[in-house]
Amino acid sequence: MSADRIGPSLAAAERLQPTLNAFVQLFDAEKARNASSGSGPLVGTPVALKDNLCLSWGKTTCASNMLRHYESPYTATAVQKLLDAGAAVIGKTNLDEFAMGSSCENSCFGPTFNPWDTTRVPGGSSGGSAAAVAAGIVPLALGSDTGGSVRQPASHCGIVGVKPTYGRVSRYGLVAYASSLDQIGTLTPTVGEAAAALSVICGHDPLDTTSSREPVPDLVSALEQPVEGLRLAVPRQARNQANHPEVARVFEETIAEYRRLGATIVDVELPLLDHGIAAYYIVAPAEASSNLARFDGIRYGHRAALGPGEDLFDLYCKSRSEGFGPEVQRRIMLGTHVLSSGYYDAYYNTALKVRRRMKQDFDRIFADCQAVLMPASPSPAFKVGEKTSDPLAMYLEDVYTVTINLAGLPAMSIPAGFASVEGKQLPVGVQLVSPAFDEARMLRIARMFERATPWHTRRPA
Ligand code: GLN
Repeated sequence: MSADRIGPSLAAAERLQPTLNAFVQLFDAEKARNASSGSGPLVGTPVALKDNLCLSWGKTTCASNMLRHYESPYTATAVQKLLDAGAAVIGKTNLDEFAMGSSCENSCFGPTFNPWDTTRVPGGSSGGSAAAVAAGIVPLALGSDTGGSVRQPASHCGIVGVKPTYGRVSRYGLVAYASSLDQIGTLTPTVGEAAAALSVICGHDPLDTTSSREPVPDLVSALEQPVEGLRLAVPRQARNQANHPEVARVFEETIAEYRRLGATIVDVELPLLDHGIAAYYIVAPAEASSNLARFDGIRYGHRAALGPGEDLFDLYCKSRSEGFGPEVQRRIMLGTHVLSSGYYDAYYNTALKVRRRMKQDFDRIFADCQAVLMPASPSPAFKVGEKTSDPLAMYLEDVYTVTINLAGLPAMSIPAGFASVEGKQLPVGVQLVSPAFDEARMLRIARMFERATPWHTRRPA
């Protein structure tokens, strides 16, 4: 019998909660053990779930006052698969409200702090999940990635974050943000643990009409085989951006390491990379404004108290104004605006055209290369509060990640080095992008680097 890992994991979560605020809810050990039915490859593994994933016990809050008391009647498919494989859910992790943000500061439960430097953010929106894994509380957490929310916090916390191909993992039971971009992903200390978890959660689900029927290959057993004749594309635009100098250094060192490992580095053009943010911040808010329309104070979520003479319209307005935080309200307004008649063609349709072109640019690159190498984020983790008053600065955090969601491709962030910033060592990740449904090879390419470098072995004090 292997030693119990659930008790120690919960104890660590409780001990670190005042320092990190990684969790919005912890379950007791009995509940965690009993709810885990399966006897598969994850037996006894404590896991944490971003709190926009439905679970049929506890609360599913999306870190929003709107859903502060919401209890889901069902469990997300990806989560059920973890339970069936023997994993035990110890708690739900903090996030930016409805997964909108890049710092885990837009939460009704307050910000999560980075385990490497608690004056800094862990990234977002899956910041609680990333912090919980980086701090050694759990070896696996699920997050969601609509524009980078798994990869960017993984980079800022020094762990592995995988966003599978759109449709690879069922979205059933993931509270929708932008449905054509949303995908559930994994946060783990290493590539091997990511491969094991993805083998469990990937695959078709009749409950999600966008989930793919593409067969899921064995992601684990081929992992140690290096990719022969690897051709890695490096977009010129990824070197030209206003990257933090330490991010630029780590990126160049990563390129050099892959070269040492025998890869051919191919310089390519990704002309639309700079337009990713503009296109994403049209498409994502447009879909969000429609997805969040259901939170009206009648069927779901917070219902405001009405004063004398107030009517149904007041009920909608007050419930939504009280329930949604400022960033979510900003997204709803942006999305409603770009979808309004008169602006629909100028904004929304143009963004969709850019999206199609981006996909074609990647197809062109993949005709000659097996993967693309880019930074995961233009800067290391920033200070809590540093970007909260400047939404555009916050959105620019996503410059390297959003394009991948627009193109529907799989991508992952892997630990690639450390930035020396104000006397602190902060982890920096790099990002690998693969052709659709090619997660197996992407993981092998990541593992080649992991085996040759020490970065994934370092843990915060
Ligand atoms: N930071 C991006 C946003 O705010 C991405 C979020 C995500 O992937 N959920 O929309």
